[in-house]
Amino acid sequence: MATENELELLLKAAHEAKENSYSPYSKVKVGAAVLTQCGKILSGANVECASYGLGVCAERGLLTHAASRGFRSFKTIVVVSNLPEITPCGACRQFIVEFGTDIEVYTDCPVDGRGKPRKFGILELLPGAFTPRSLGTSGS
Ligand SMILES: [Zn+2]
Repeated sequence: MATENELELLLKAAHEAKENSYSPYSKVKVGAAVLTQCGKILSGANVECASYGLGVCAERGLLTHAASRGFRSFKTIVVVSNLPEITPCGACRQFIVEFGTDIEVYTDCPVDGRGKPRKFGILELLPGAFTPRSLGTSGS
């Protein structure tokens, strides 16, 4: 569980990452930041492609980056957007639960610069999730 200070840092990192979104087609800017169990914060943004189906969500791009750097255990992920409201898509929910069934998910879409983050548990967003445990493994 992120502390209040960690949540503030995550929100700041996610909003900063959102500004690096590569979204020339949809104009939907999404940023994400994740807090590892060891206290490190990593962030990323969505990346679109002229071949639309190849675009990558901020959350999946971020977790791919984090996992490829050796981080496999996460406390909290924050997702922000320039939309009035956002939650991770189904594919990203599946990707998040790959790394833990107790990961907390915050979303924030401030209007006029005043955000009111919403908190979810990943299993609240993906009930009955298919996890590494479903395959009889820890996933690591
Ligand atoms: Zn997604």
